[in-house]
Amino acid sequence: MDRFRVEVISKTPNPQQTIYAAMHQDYAEAFVWDQRHDWPSEEKAGELVIRNLLKGGRGHFGPLEHPQIVLNCGFFPHSTMQQIRTHRVGLSFDVQSFRYTGARIIDVASGKADVEDVFYLRPVGSYTDRQGKKYDYTEALRQEDLDWCIAGARRYQTRIGQGFSEEHARGLIPFDVRQHWVVSANARSLMHLLDLRWKADAQLEAQKLCEAIWPEFQAWVPAIAQWYEDNRLKKARLSP
Ligand SMILES: Cc1cc2nc3c(=O)[nH]c(=O)nc-3n(C[C@H](O)[C@H](O)[C@H](O)COP(=O)(O)OP(=O)(O)OC[C@H]3O[C@@H](n4cnc5c(N)ncnc54)[C@H](O)[C@@H]3O)c2cc1C
Repeated sequence: MDRFRVEVISKTPNPQQTIYAAMHQDYAEAFVWDQRHDWPSEEKAGELVIRNLLKGGRGHFGPLEHPQIVLNCGFFPHSTMQQIRTHRVGLSFDVQSFRYTGARIIDVASGKADVEDVFYLRPVGSYTDRQGKKYDYTEALRQEDLDWCIAGARRYQTRIGQGFSEEHARGLIPFDVRQHWVVSANARSLMHLLDLRWKADAQLEAQKLCEAIWPEFQAWVPAIAQWYEDNRLKKARLSP
């Protein structure tokens, strides 16, 4: 999958029990913490959460907002970061701004770094524009664009050498420079992001991001992921 990476920095350790506890407090007379030794196992909690909150379109999503996962997303094009950052409810971001960094762009200019490690271009292949018209991105065209990226990096290097600030010189490089970010999300907001960014008309690279997030989501909240897969995954079920 290109050079794209998604790594888990941290995550709520017992997410399905956490959701269960929140759900249980909704109707339990007792203080649920005092009953913690009787809470169902992580697996059983997952089953109960599905049965009582989500099954049959119940849509009682609130308790799913408690467990958090923090992801490090890397080597995605700038445009993907822009798209993902439009999601703002239940998510928080820290993104490289290129105000404080830029050494790797200079490394491309001086031949120390592979241009493809720093700039993203789509793979060679057949594509379709928004009106359905087909076109080919050939090896030769792609090579021209790689040369363009190198030229942009060289201009950046020149301007930095003339004393420009990074935030000024960054405006000269090609748009889809690779960018890294940290995003935290809760189980609900992450599913919403998958709803919108894994559907067929989402940008290719955003879909790839979702593909990389998915196994981490499955490993973290398996019962919720199974429910999501059966009911929403790639079905373009959108909230209002
Ligand atoms: C295929 C695709 C193409 C897109 N193209 C563009 C584009 O060209 N330009 C562009 O600017 N954006 C574009 N977007 C972004 C889109 O308009 C949304 O801003 C983005 O998807 C964030 O999703 P969200 O509104 O669900 O926000 P989230 O932060 O994910 O919010 C979750 C949910 O909370 C509720 N909510 C959040 N904020 C509010 C609010 N202020 N008021 C009321 N309810 C709220 C809504 O129910 C929302 O669905 C595109 C998105 C997709 C999926």
